[in-house]
Amino acid sequence: MAGTNRANAPSELDIEAARWFFQNSVDIFVLIRGGIISRINPAWTELSGWSVDDTVGRPIEDFIHPGDSQIVRDLVNTLIADGKARAEHRLLSKDGAVLWVRSRVKRGGADATIVVLQDVTAEHQRAAESADAARTNDLLREAAGIYVWRFDPETGLYDIDTDLSRAGARGASGSRTITADEMSSEIHPDDQGRVGEAFFHTLATGEPRVVEYRHFRAEDGGWARLRAAWRGLRRRESGKWDVLGLTQDVSEVAEARDAALDAAEAKSQFLANMSHEIRTPMNGVLGVLHLLKSENLSPDGRRLLEEAVGCGQMLAELLNDVIDFSKIEAGRLELSPEPVDPRSLMDSVAGLLRPQAVARGLWLNTHAEPDLGWALVDPVRLRQVLFNLIGNAVKFTLTGGVDARLSRVERNGADRLRFEISDTGVGIAPEAQSDLFQRFHQADGSTTRRFGGSGLGLAISRRLAELMGGEIGFSSTPGEGSTFWIEVAAPRVDARAAEVDEAEGLLDGLRVLIVEDNPTNRLIATRMLQQLGAVVETADDGQQGVEAAARSNFDLIFMDIQMPVMDGMEATRRIRALPEPVCDTPILAMTANAMSHQADSYLAAGMNGIVAKPLSPTALVAQIAAVVARSAEDAAAEGRREGVGGRK
Ligand code: ADP
Repeated sequence: MAGTNRANAPSELDIEAARWFFQNSVDIFVLIRGGIISRINPAWTELSGWSVDDTVGRPIEDFIHPGDSQIVRDLVNTLIADGKARAEHRLLSKDGAVLWVRSRVKRGGADATIVVLQDVTAEHQRAAESADAARTNDLLREAAGIYVWRFDPETGLYDIDTDLSRAGARGASGSRTITADEMSSEIHPDDQGRVGEAFFHTLATGEPRVVEYRHFRAEDGGWARLRAAWRGLRRRESGKWDVLGLTQDVSEVAEARDAALDAAEAKSQFLANMSHEIRTPMNGVLGVLHLLKSENLSPDGRRLLEEAVGCGQMLAELLNDVIDFSKIEAGRLELSPEPVDPRSLMDSVAGLLRPQAVARGLWLNTHAEPDLGWALVDPVRLRQVLFNLIGNAVKFTLTGGVDARLSRVERNGADRLRFEISDTGVGIAPEAQSDLFQRFHQADGSTTRRFGGSGLGLAISRRLAELMGGEIGFSSTPGEGSTFWIEVAAPRVDARAAEVDEAEGLLDGLRVLIVEDNPTNRLIATRMLQQLGAVVETADDGQQGVEAAARSNFDLIFMDIQMPVMDGMEATRRIRALPEPVCDTPILAMTANAMSHQADSYLAAGMNGIVAKPLSPTALVAQIAAVVARSAEDAAAEGRREGVGGRK
């Protein structure tokens, strides 16, 4: 046979090639005869570690993972039936490691079997790792309520790699796809605008954003609190931004945070109430102590009394600090800005503290930039902060002295006053500097014993600085001294408008209506305005105010806000609805509620400005001057009637 068809018989070359292939293949070749291994190629030894001596003469089953013996039995059965078979199973290598192999088996001749094994261990490892990662993801989702998503701007679809089941959006699990509309419909209506805005920003710029919002929770029909962080991922083809995000259910954290804030609020409320309660009897005790001073006392008794008065005053100061601080914390401290000469304000504070400084052999000097002018600030609160800063500087200086400097600065186009208090005192250690503005914080524990104080002063000063539209800060070198500075928003005002004496007669002949239900306030306002030269009429409530305004054409109306029968807002709206020229009369709100959001609502009701109660002549004049100036500008611009009621 071999001679008749040479083309089908393997040539020398074929045999040579087969031998080379057998020797050099990365796949394992095993030849089995009569059930035992008779030949292996080097790949076998390379991958499994078993040598020729270890292997030849043994059944291949000896090298197969015991867990896979059933697979091998099936393989042999198929081989017997079909002449060939394939399977995937594990091999045991010599060092005990497990190899995953894909095996192809073929009968070759009488009792010979050829086995080819391909190493697929790496493939199996990858599969196992990705299964692991998937399990970790599941765990993350279940335990921490985290899921990942990707938004495709081309299709307008979100791919979400989770079930959102904890956030409770839907019941289905695994990854899903939803439209942008579906996504936003599950967000709380009040949060949709904010989330949408942040999202579109990322779509347009790719910049990352983090938002917290409420998301519908199917379990109980309530709202889950979600926190989402996302960023853009630029598509190479279109240049558009995909958005890649991670969302976490933070309901529990958010609820805990809210509870903590509520508790803190309740605590500071309690502190404020208690301090108020303590202050009244405290004042009684102090009063009695002062009375005792005029009694006949032994020298020893007098010394004890002095001590008691000193302690009482410290306690009273501490109480005031606590009340102030909790008021500020609760947002209940309101400012009453008025025209102030900042230089004399600083001088007066320094004047109060100078005796203390001089008694200790220290200097206390003030320096002010020339031409500072007047400014619209709350003098009570500004004085309080300066008192604290200059007081501290004196307190913490043992030799040398204190310099207080005042200048005007501009920040973002707004006028500010800047006070700088430098001392040559003990200074503040670097490690204490970062917490200095925290409440109850003192630079070192021995401070209270050495110098006294509550540690609230700087915390209050910082809040006040912020309330006054400014900032506070310091620099300090231990042993050399400290410089504390504070800046507050301080719009310039006309000094002339602020000087009441000079302002006398400023409103000569001006016809003013005061609408105010409280007789005392009515009287005070009337007197003040009359002193300035105005002719004053009064009305007891909003209703009467509207009638009076309609009857005679006033130059200016002062309107209380809270009144019986008709409040000031309604009265203002009605006056604005009256025929010309009455409807154009400038109206100033007179109120103790002069916080900015309230001020906005007064202006929205048609008022032209606000004077804060308790009334001060300086504030009155400043506001009137401002309204007069504005009306004059309007009149000039529109070429209409003259300013405030045509005053000549
Ligand atoms: P206190 O009522 O204790 O003075 P403050 O809040 O005013 O409370 O100050 C907090 C702490 O800051 C002080 O106890 C002191 O340690 C430190 N401190 C404040 N001002 C100065 C200063 N000018 N020099 C050195 N230390 C200062």
